[in-house]
Amino acid sequence: MSLRIGNGFDVHKFSEDPDRVLVLGGVRFDGEPGLHGHSDADVITHAVGEALLGAAGLGDLGTHFPDTDERWRGANSLELLDEIVRMLLAENWIVVNVDCSVIAERPKLAAHREQMQQILSARVGAPVTIKGRRAEGIGGLGRSEGIACFASALIESARIESALIESAGSASQTSPEVGK
Ligand SMILES: [Zn+2]
Repeated sequence: MSLRIGNGFDVHKFSEDPDRVLVLGGVRFDGEPGLHGHSDADVITHAVGEALLGAAGLGDLGTHFPDTDERWRGANSLELLDEIVRMLLAENWIVVNVDCSVIAERPKLAAHREQMQQILSARVGAPVTIKGRRAEGIGGLGRSEGIACFASALIESARIESALIESAGSASQTSPEVGK
């Protein structure tokens, strides 16, 4: 079995624009200030995407979805994540799991954690776990100037797996012949 690990990091500052909606892990947090960014600025989904791209050796989010490209203005980051999962599948990589640590003074994530995990797990096709913690008042994150997220992703090669299944299948087919 061929396994690869990747890590991803993303950070967005809160927007001055009162019309920006806060989206984290594909969930809208109504009534909370939104994050600044070219897309929907979903910092958790971006970190997951970065970790997956890194694990597969496929570069980073900015290369594939540049913020100079009008196609990605206001983009739903879950669709970017779908595209990343497709890129991995095209290279015969399947996701084993992703674990995220979100650093945010606000909002409180606990009430939405299960929903975020379900949405991201469905998109990625593997368990995605999310842990929230505060920055203890340290630095810009501690002063609620933005939200950051770290993610670790494990992927495995589907090519090796299917090759093993094929060879096991042909071995069991030929073994009665050997017995004769
Ligand atoms: Zn981002």
